[in-house]
Amino acid sequence: MQTNHDDSKAKAEVVVLATGGTIAGTAGSATRADYTSGRVTVDAMIAAVPQIREIARVRGEQLANVGSQDITFAIMIALANRINNLLAEKHNHGVVVTHGTDTMEETAHFLNLTVASRKPVVMTGAMRPATAISADGPLNLYNAVAVAADPQAAERGVLVVMNDRIHGAHSLTKSNTTSVETFISPVNGLIGTVNYGRSEYFRRPFRRHTFNSEFSLDGVSVLPRVDIVHACADMPPDLIDASVERGARGIVIAGDGNGNMNAATIERAARAAAGGVLIVRSSRVPTGNVGRNVEIDDDRLGFVASDELNPVKARILLMLALLKKRSLEEIQRLFYEY
Ligand code: GLU
Repeated sequence: MQTNHDDSKAKAEVVVLATGGTIAGTAGSATRADYTSGRVTVDAMIAAVPQIREIARVRGEQLANVGSQDITFAIMIALANRINNLLAEKHNHGVVVTHGTDTMEETAHFLNLTVASRKPVVMTGAMRPATAISADGPLNLYNAVAVAADPQAAERGVLVVMNDRIHGAHSLTKSNTTSVETFISPVNGLIGTVNYGRSEYFRRPFRRHTFNSEFSLDGVSVLPRVDIVHACADMPPDLIDASVERGARGIVIAGDGNGNMNAATIERAARAAAGGVLIVRSSRVPTGNVGRNVEIDDDRLGFVASDELNPVKARILLMLALLKKRSLEEIQRLFYEY
């Protein structure tokens, strides 16, 4: 169903929380590929798109101003707590988070698990800096505010709006280093589309998120260390030992194919699992699920299969899962449900 913005109704209140990224980046000229993320403030970003005032009452807050390669879990936790507080206030209808695209999928997944509200939470960013020819940030911000102001976006979990597409946090991934069409949702497809503020929704996410998530950040300021080890032909198995020695409580293997790794690495990972380190098998392949007991006997070795989550999202789910003591079976359940 298409949503048109009806000016006769009171405009929704949307808060824009800015964290930096290319959307706030500047370059020396309109055609330079080199640029610095996180230079433009949230107020300047909103002021650059005055048309936003026609679709919502908007105010901004600057939470950070970094390229998303420098996003930390401290920023993610502060963001989740701020969103929960803002959306608990009746007058706020939705939140937009501006963020670099490099790690957007990680923050989106983190917020999808830790924001408790039914109201719209929409992330956006840009592939081109604010000073570039055909900068994509202004229209992305306009569309993101339109979706955050739209009651139809509620209860769909954290959404990412870029290049006229509405993606779900669970399914999206960055697929191109420079193209404005970088985000794809390869397994489950789009949640919807938005064009000059008019949105159309196709589906709701299948997995648990936001208002029906069992995760909470109450009293949490640090998360357990979980490392990602990338599999490849003839991989050195002692990368597993290095992680264990550095204090990792869990290791996600970005496995070959359906979560595979060579025999020597399986042996080290099994030893780590026997010592209480959580081993999750994900995949370095960009699309498809990782199933239990396919070529590797998870039941015997004590491993967990990531199901649909790629390595960076599997890491975030495991970090949150490890905040509490849980059995292997329970952690596998989390990977099937979230
Ligand atoms: N490194 C930048 C970032 O993630 C580039 C990506 C972007 O924002 O588009 O902040």
